[in-house]
Amino acid sequence: MSETLCVKWTITANEYPQPLLHCRRCCSIKPFRTGGKVRVNANGKRIDAWLIYRCATCEGTWNRPLLERRPVGAIEPEFLSKLVANDAELVAQFASDAEDLRRHAPQLKGAVGVSVMKSMLSGDMCRPAVLCIALAVPQPVSLRLDRLLAEELGLSRSRVDRLVQEGLLLVAGSNAARALRRSVCDGTQVKIGLSGLESTEVASRASGHMA
Ligand SMILES: [Zn+2]
Repeated sequence: MSETLCVKWTITANEYPQPLLHCRRCCSIKPFRTGGKVRVNANGKRIDAWLIYRCATCEGTWNRPLLERRPVGAIEPEFLSKLVANDAELVAQFASDAEDLRRHAPQLKGAVGVSVMKSMLSGDMCRPAVLCIALAVPQPVSLRLDRLLAEELGLSRSRVDRLVQEGLLLVAGSNAARALRRSVCDGTQVKIGLSGLESTEVASRASGHMA
């Protein structure tokens, strides 16, 4: 009676967050995208570094500050050589950091596409009573937890809300109602009681066995 299905969802963004900025050439607000190029400028003993973004319409540029007037001695040499070399992993880390990006560009383009890779950890897909979802989010993703659950489980957002009100949806270590309104984060564990739902259908969606 107490069958629990445990699944893991690994969530990756299909594109980096795009700041919405006033483009001088277009004379309007446009999304800007990064091609992953870093510019480093040494001025005496101080270093500036930027990640280059281009207007999606006209290719006009915007430089996102990564280092500002930083003394050379205060920068890890390995970090600096990675910056100079446009190290792909480091660039990906900066480019996907929406929180830091918001310090320079408060408005980001909404809803970037994400890919959700699902795998089954344990349990049975046939009418489970409880569904446990472990989220792996290697790079920060701008996607609310309630939207993710609704889309991936085939439920409406209001149905997801109701599960929380009924105490059937729990988020380990936090207030579920609050966690649902925040961006998905790595290590989140969601537990859903499936008594009022089409449990086999929800289970096959959750484990990726249904398109
Ligand atoms: Zn433009």
